[in-house]
Amino acid sequence: MTLKSAPFYWLVCDRCGKRADYGENIAMSHAGDARDIAADSEWLITGHPTDEHHYCESCHVWDEEQDKSVPMPPARTTSEGNE
Ligand SMILES: [Zn+2]
Repeated sequence: MTLKSAPFYWLVCDRCGKRADYGENIAMSHAGDARDIAADSEWLITGHPTDEHHYCESCHVWDEEQDKSVPMPPARTTSEGNE
């Protein structure tokens, strides 16, 4: 018997830290699959392949002016006082 291991890939939201949902799988064996399946479930992927950013379905909004999805602003801390 031969036991081996391999890397697995999954996306984590840059904004809220949520991990992508791959159904019955916790992760994918190919980075491309990890990216594509997340994109199919409404994740936003921005930036260049060497510096990608990933946002879950809760962390991006449609921008009418730019005619594309854009990441929501970073979650604010309330250190600046009351609103
Ligand atoms: Zn998120």
